[in-house]
Amino acid sequence: MFHATVITLFPELFPGPLRASVLGRGLSEGLWSLDTVNIRDFSDNKYGSVDDTPAGGGAGMVMRADILAAAIDAVPRNDRPILCLSPRGRSLDQARIKALSEGPGLIALCGRFEGIDERLFAARNVEEVSIGDFVLAGGEIAAMAMIEACVRLIPAVLGSASSLGEESFEGGLLEYPQYTRPREFEGRAIPDVLLSGDHQKITEWRQRQAEAITRARRPDLWAGYQKSGPIRSDKNKDETS
Ligand code: SAH
Repeated sequence: MFHATVITLFPELFPGPLRASVLGRGLSEGLWSLDTVNIRDFSDNKYGSVDDTPAGGGAGMVMRADILAAAIDAVPRNDRPILCLSPRGRSLDQARIKALSEGPGLIALCGRFEGIDERLFAARNVEEVSIGDFVLAGGEIAAMAMIEACVRLIPAVLGSASSLGEESFEGGLLEYPQYTRPREFEGRAIPDVLLSGDHQKITEWRQRQAEAITRARRPDLWAGYQKSGPIRSDKNKDETS
């Protein structure tokens, strides 16, 4: 079962939005689990501080490696990777999320202040991961985003897994446009082909739309798609090229 442990200065933020909807139901039904570790509990002083001024000078505070190491050491690993949310990390993508969702879970380390003493990463085999090229005030919301993306891929949590296969990124493309009633909205009609009942034509139209949108919005994905062809899953990546 997927088990997430979040190491944070703000454990009260969890499960937060992860309590909503199908993920929340899955959590209360024990289909996945979450616990938190308060970094403050591992402070070595009566003030409960966990940070100090940066060596070499400069603004802000740096989280101490020894205190974070003690917090990490208090968590049973159970073969889970330790992922530190960080704008300097490698960007998470759907392939990585999928691989994580199929594993035993993860340990998320949330930074605050200016960041974390560099020595921690090698000392505890911590991998830095980012949720995008922008800077948050702390790792908590990034950890929630990562955990939510993983948990929604767990088949028992989603219930019907049917909608997952055609999502953005699944075939190396962004998703085609979706429509629903009313048939006309402020003078804009649903494309005729979608009302034609011709499933072959609809599939082709969606494929062309997905390609056009990916090409226009994400040249990086488009280049990868053209090189390797549709990627339905890691297993048949090679067969479909
Ligand atoms: N001084 C740091 C930024 C610190 S932001 C730098 O320039 O790299 C404070 C914390 O927010 C970080 O330690 C990290 O845990 C979290 N954070 C900020 N942006 C993030 C992002 N894009 N992805 C994941 N975590 C992020």
